[in-house]
Amino acid sequence: MKGDTTKHQGKRRQLVSVLETKGITDPAVLKAIGSIPRHLFLDSSFDEHAYQDKAFPIGAEQTISQPYTVAFQTEQLQVKPGMHVLEIGTGSGYQTAVLCHLGAVVYSIERQHELFRTSLKRLPALGYAPKKLIFGDGYKGFPEKAPYDRIIVTAGAPYIPEDLLAQLKINGKMVIPVGDESQKMTVITRTSETVFEKLILGNFRFVPLLGDKN
Ligand code: SAH
Repeated sequence: MKGDTTKHQGKRRQLVSVLETKGITDPAVLKAIGSIPRHLFLDSSFDEHAYQDKAFPIGAEQTISQPYTVAFQTEQLQVKPGMHVLEIGTGSGYQTAVLCHLGAVVYSIERQHELFRTSLKRLPALGYAPKKLIFGDGYKGFPEKAPYDRIIVTAGAPYIPEDLLAQLKINGKMVIPVGDESQKMTVITRTSETVFEKLILGNFRFVPLLGDKN
């Protein structure tokens, strides 16, 4: 791929080992991170740093999530090829690319127009084909194509949006960081029309999921 050198590939392999030492084991997730040129989702001034396990600014006061966070959330999501996945917070499009790499049919929503526009060009240019990128409010999900097998929220949610729960298939899963200052990674499994089982995992720090009022 143009702009992806052996130097970048070497750094990417090192990042994969870092993620393994931090406890990521899913081979498909590690393979996705080992294949996707993260530096091409960032401004070229971050070229040297793109494979550090860190979040970086992507404009519009937002950040690309730390690779460990992407790996952890994706591992919890348990995506299989062909699954319909809704992502809230396209941002740089990096997590979107991870989901595409796993063979998911991906819908992704972003509320910052600048980031939406950039991802709309960037993802196909890098060979990733999400089913649809949506400019809109992730709190409302994307009811047109619901229900989804999986929903992933990549911004800190002050609470679990009802509309997202409603758009989950039975036996579907949602991975969402819940909290204000810091967030608890929460995995929700819908076991019936009315029952949602909740599993609470470690603490993370995301930029906030913004609503109409902020
Ligand atoms: N997955 C992204 C993470 C970006 S940070 C990446 O890897 O780059 C979270 C993103 O969520 C930001 O781009 C932010 O603009 C977006 N966001 C915040 N509130 C939102 C909302 N209500 N609906 C959709 N996107 C939202």
